[in-house]
Amino acid sequence: MDLLSHDNQGRDDQGHYAQGELVSVLTTQPIDRLLDYRAPAGGCAEGAVVSVPLGPRQVLGVVWGPGEGNYDLSRIRPITRVLDAAPMRPEMREFLIRAGEYTLTPLSAMLRLATRAPGLSDPPSMQKVYRLGAQEPERMTDARRRVLSVLEEYGGLSFTLKELSEMAGVTSSVVKGLVQHGAVREEQSPRDTPYPRMDTDRRGKPLTDSQAEAAARLATGYAERRYATTLLRGVTGSGKTEVYLEAVAACLSAGRQALVLLPEIALSEQFLVRVEQRFGAKPVEWHSGVTMTERRRAWKMVGRGEAQLVIGARSALFLPFRDLGLIVVDEEHDTSYKQEDGALYNARDMSVLRASIAGARAVLASATPSLESWANADAGKYDRVDLDARFGAAVLPAMHSIDMRGERMEPGRWISPSLAAAVQGRIARGEQSLLFLNRRGYAPITLCRACGEQIGCEHCDARMVEHRFLKRLVCHQCGEGKPMPEACPSCQVEGKLAPIGPGVERMAEEVAGAFPEAKTAVLSSDLFGSARALKQAIADIADGDIDIVIGTQLVAKGHNFPRLTLVGVIDSDLGLQGSDLRAAERTFQLMRQVAGRAGRAETPGEALLQTHQPEHPVIRAILTGDEEAFWAAEADARRAAGMPPYGRLAAVILSATDPQSAFRAGQDLARNAGPLHSVGAQVFGPAAAPIARVRGRHRVRMLVKAERGVALQTAMAKWVGQLRPDRDLRVAVDIDPQSFY
Ligand code: ADP
Ligand code: ZN
Repeated sequence: MDLLSHDNQGRDDQGHYAQGELVSVLTTQPIDRLLDYRAPAGGCAEGAVVSVPLGPRQVLGVVWGPGEGNYDLSRIRPITRVLDAAPMRPEMREFLIRAGEYTLTPLSAMLRLATRAPGLSDPPSMQKVYRLGAQEPERMTDARRRVLSVLEEYGGLSFTLKELSEMAGVTSSVVKGLVQHGAVREEQSPRDTPYPRMDTDRRGKPLTDSQAEAAARLATGYAERRYATTLLRGVTGSGKTEVYLEAVAACLSAGRQALVLLPEIALSEQFLVRVEQRFGAKPVEWHSGVTMTERRRAWKMVGRGEAQLVIGARSALFLPFRDLGLIVVDEEHDTSYKQEDGALYNARDMSVLRASIAGARAVLASATPSLESWANADAGKYDRVDLDARFGAAVLPAMHSIDMRGERMEPGRWISPSLAAAVQGRIARGEQSLLFLNRRGYAPITLCRACGEQIGCEHCDARMVEHRFLKRLVCHQCGEGKPMPEACPSCQVEGKLAPIGPGVERMAEEVAGAFPEAKTAVLSSDLFGSARALKQAIADIADGDIDIVIGTQLVAKGHNFPRLTLVGVIDSDLGLQGSDLRAAERTFQLMRQVAGRAGRAETPGEALLQTHQPEHPVIRAILTGDEEAFWAAEADARRAAGMPPYGRLAAVILSATDPQSAFRAGQDLARNAGPLHSVGAQVFGPAAAPIARVRGRHRVRMLVKAERGVALQTAMAKWVGQLRPDRDLRVAVDIDPQSFY
């Protein structure tokens, strides 16, 4: 089915401006209004992506509507050029406006998010492509036959050398040889070419009854452009991915595009292979690891409807889809969906918004949904589909706590005798164990035994973390690093610096001592120079060549390790401390996810949680696996406190190099809280942020609490708008804050 020919809604419903007509343009520059220009020679469409002069520069913009004309008409300049890109669709513009209003982000910043592809203003560049020629090759080999049959299968399409040789599974010289024989034609064509089409006639795996029922509920409404959001909850390994790929198939068959958001896209090699097996072609990837050229191609083809399926990180939500019918947010509870820098948006919530504007379906998939989504389903705003059994023989692991108060621990050791015995048992049986500790580096604290100093970061109020592998101290807040010193920076005494507490690197040391014959691997984001190296490590583990994996939360995310049967959680209490509103929820999710790594194939798994508080309600809920009870209790507590999702929060973070000025601005705001009081909201602060200094800037936080259903954004905008910004003061507004540091 061809998207271009199938649907032309919207193509013509945008206005067209003749040469010289006044148009208003939204640019990516930080200016809080639209600018007037004249339509260029040949005119331009509403939504056209254009290059316009601004002062001495050329900037990117989008034709937003008719010009306003309240400006000296003789000085209005023409648009320089209409760029080679599909005009921005009305629903995309509406999405940017509403997402900007929700997050209190200026529209120009929203447009920057939506045009994050390099070289959009460049003229189209050319590349060599290959298509079927007229001649037969003199000598036919298996490899040659494979190349020709790929070209035949895809009719008149052409491919780059890399695509064609990969699809045919041959070296590029085979293709070149065919070119010499005239069996394949080499041509110049624009570099930004359409992506191979997904074959939706291929069948997925035969589904179990409950999977089929879930898939059927997700497979409707695409042709009718019906908006719906579904929470797809299912234990790890229950086949959620299998099920939502059926929804993707239904959406693509209806001629619409689909987007799958993943939290750690760079790590999803297994996932991409799976999609390719399902649809016979690679989907479009969109994340920080994608090359510049490929990003531009993806952006343009998505806009033209010549890319059907995008697998991406959260920013893929701002791609200019021509007709988006489905957005899947996998691991919807994952904190990385919240952008914590610049425009502070939550990609999960914005997916629901975009789906509602586009007449699309949003599917929020998770084994451990966020309380927000659980509550929305509970209130009937979202559908809920549950997959309760694990696929096939795989069963959820048995979970037990190890009460650390009763274990005989040597100083500087973190693996209890009980856990060690369990690991030893797996090694003897040739099975894999995972030791989970959510802390990167060697030791979280470096203490001087002479003066008691704990080495801290010079720019932040954070301790430096020793990374022995890199022989450096690193601040996990700002990234600042320095070589590990010999002498204490405070008292200058040498040889007295001691590591306190464990990180994954130190666990690796303990494991090497305790299990000298075992093969181990450490999975921590900072230990790999590239996404590729990390992918390789994950593949090695999946292939089973490793006895003990030591990992941070990186391992909690959706990988399949078939030989893994034991998960040992080194410090289950870690996430229970701290003042975070969501500490209990996060700990519950993380522990359940990690435990879900064990026993995915035929061998049943076991999860052992080392804890000093086995009676803690969160630990008990994890052990008993009674998720509904956990959520219901958490929901009651939040409702009673008027906290999200039953009440609303917004934060203001003021930062300045001068600590006084940030505080003064906060006090000003606190004194002038009229706009907030008028909607019944309460203001707390200003208070020094828990991490009071980051990158040399002093940070002050204010928290706003309101009831659900009030016009909080409007009130916030009025309130914060009273501040007189100066050169030093930065103001960030965080609607629905996830973190409170
Ligand atoms: P989830 O996304 O819920 O973790 P997956 O969809 O990844 O679950 O399924 C877990 C494993 O079980 C995968 O290896 C998948 O291929 C397999 N699986 C799930 N459902 C089926 C099925 N109906 N037929 C064959 N294999 C399946
Ligand atoms: Zn720092």
